[in-house]
Amino acid sequence: MKKALPALLLACVVIFIGCRSGTGNRYGSGPASAPWQSRYNDKLLGPVTPDQLLREVNLRPDLIRAGSVGRSWFRPMKPRYITIHSTQNYTGNAYNHALALKRGALRATKRKGGNRIGYLTWHFTVQDNVAIQHLPCREQGEHADFDGPGNNYSIGIEMCEHKGNDLALTIDKTARLAAYISYVYQIPLSNVVPHYHWPRAGASPPNKNCPHFLMENGRPGSRWRWFLGRVQLHYKRIQTGQARSLG
Ligand SMILES: [Zn+2]
Repeated sequence: MKKALPALLLACVVIFIGCRSGTGNRYGSGPASAPWQSRYNDKLLGPVTPDQLLREVNLRPDLIRAGSVGRSWFRPMKPRYITIHSTQNYTGNAYNHALALKRGALRATKRKGGNRIGYLTWHFTVQDNVAIQHLPCREQGEHADFDGPGNNYSIGIEMCEHKGNDLALTIDKTARLAAYISYVYQIPLSNVVPHYHWPRAGASPPNKNCPHFLMENGRPGSRWRWFLGRVQLHYKRIQTGQARSLG
């Protein structure tokens, strides 16, 4: 019996470690799996007109000037998807990104099969207390997959990650904005996708781990499904009514 004791102890340790490593897989198995869910009080959410939902988003237009930098070429778009990103910029807030886009500070190498205009551009940047619009929704951005459908047909939304930014509020504001855009442009929930969805020709890995905090093991899983649930939650609140186009 004495000899069996160490073996028994070892078995307990192995089981304990096994259980701990198993906790990672519980993420997303229900709403509690997303660590931000506990910050929301969904019982207080009521029906809204499209205008009211947009007010909750606190949208501020601050477009890149037409004909300048990332809008030097007019590239019309019929939006069919919404692509969700995160900035992975731990110092820049939404206003900093708006300024950088307007100044043409976010350069990229223009090349055949790669970036088409020499700049990065996208439509909205969201932080905990505001969403800023940089491009009209009917113009192509340069944020997803070079000359692929992600750039040709999708509205790009970046979520901020700077220090002091409340990520839970940022995620929820993004879900509200995505719900509003879905309503206005009649984009189905199945077409709200992470940047990961669009493979980038010649990049390694082709499918980017973005937005990284909503991915699991670098790809969409239960956390992403949880986020889509939040988009749907806000979409269902919308009462039929006049909705303002966002360009
Ligand atoms: Zn991205």
